Amino acid sequence: MGHSTILRHRTQRVQVGDVAIGGDAPVVVQSMTNTDTVDAEGTARQVYELAQAGSELVRITVNTSEAAIQVPRIRKMLDDMGCDVPLIGDFHYNGHRLLTEFPECAQALAKYRINPGNVGKNRKGEDQFAMMIAVARQYGKPVRIGVNWGSLDQDLVVRMMDENARLAEPRDVSEVTREALIVSALESARRAEELGLAHDRIVLSCKVSEVQDLIAVYQELARRCDYPLHLGLTEAGMGSKGIVGSTAALAVLLQQGIGDTIRISLTPEPGGARTQEVVVAQEILQTMGLRSFTPMVTACPGCGRTTSTVFQELAQSIQNHLRAQMPVWREQYSGVEEMTVAVMGCIVNGPGESKLANIGISLPGTGESPAAPVYVDGEKTVTLRGDRIAQEFQQIVDDYVAR
Ligand code: SF4
Repeated sequence: MGHSTILRHRTQRVQVGDVAIGGDAPVVVQSMTNTDTVDAEGTARQVYELAQAGSELVRITVNTSEAAIQVPRIRKMLDDMGCDVPLIGDFHYNGHRLLTEFPECAQALAKYRINPGNVGKNRKGEDQFAMMIAVARQYGKPVRIGVNWGSLDQDLVVRMMDENARLAEPRDVSEVTREALIVSALESARRAEELGLAHDRIVLSCKVSEVQDLIAVYQELARRCDYPLHLGLTEAGMGSKGIVGSTAALAVLLQQGIGDTIRISLTPEPGGARTQEVVVAQEILQTMGLRSFTPMVTACPGCGRTTSTVFQELAQSIQNHLRAQMPVWREQYSGVEEMTVAVMGCIVNGPGESKLANIGISLPGTGESPAAPVYVDGEKTVTLRGDRIAQEFQQIVDDYVAR
């Protein structure tokens, strides 16, 4: 139950280090650090944390010479930690210079993100885009041509707005802007190929911050090309707004088979974990039945029949435990990520949901006997009582995984 039958939009497979994007590869989860790349130790640590949380690609900012110098060091530190997650360099404005002046940085990265909105011809007459593509060819690296609503090529926008104004029936401005995003991505990809970059070295993205715009832009991109598509609602925001917006947009597209890699751009709460965006990305893919990463906990919302917080605490602690154990379990046991666990608040829906899960527990609601029946593979196995229910249930889950 729960697996998708979604027909994926056919795209070209692009290899990023050992990770494939597009073709018949599963939708890849990626994220981005928010450390200063000059702080190599801090950046390597955060990349490691993101990778441990399940990010299959991690992007880092490469914005200065000092940052570029640190990139090979960061790669080495990660290798020494046994972390082989491919690193992607995020370049803007000066990527042509950094990539050409720091060959070790160019070599250490597995992919370059190029924003066509800020790599045109500069005052020195350098063709910055062509210079970056030349480096990608030289080192055999793929690129993501990443167009962004907030940094769209203004010459292109002006040109398209002028063309639109001359039409007998001009289109809506937002429609023209959406078209400008798509044209920027596709023209840049075509130019990269004219400059000699192979078709299977190009990933595209066109990020916007409004759900309906994102859906419209990506539907059109998918219709017009077979480059793998990197999905993400940019500047999605904080907390539930960012999560809901990203989920709403990405779920519609993923359901239509569009999207080969996703990044959830959440603004972390002050002091909040960067890894939250990885968890959200995984949960979108898993709840849609597209991939499995971590055993999922089904929990009821609770109601007037649950007068204590025991059941919420148990649901939370079991989900945290499962997530924390996954890096170890993934190495030891195959298929553990498909496991389901139910934590229910009372006997109304408790036994039913518990029987559907691999392991389920139905906690005592108000007026029920203080007993928590546990179901394993649909059969009631034991009834837990007392104040050690959480620990005993966790042990049952661990034993089940080990079996
Ligand atoms: Fe309420 Fe019980 Fe349903 Fe949970 S399972 S929402 S506690 S009636």
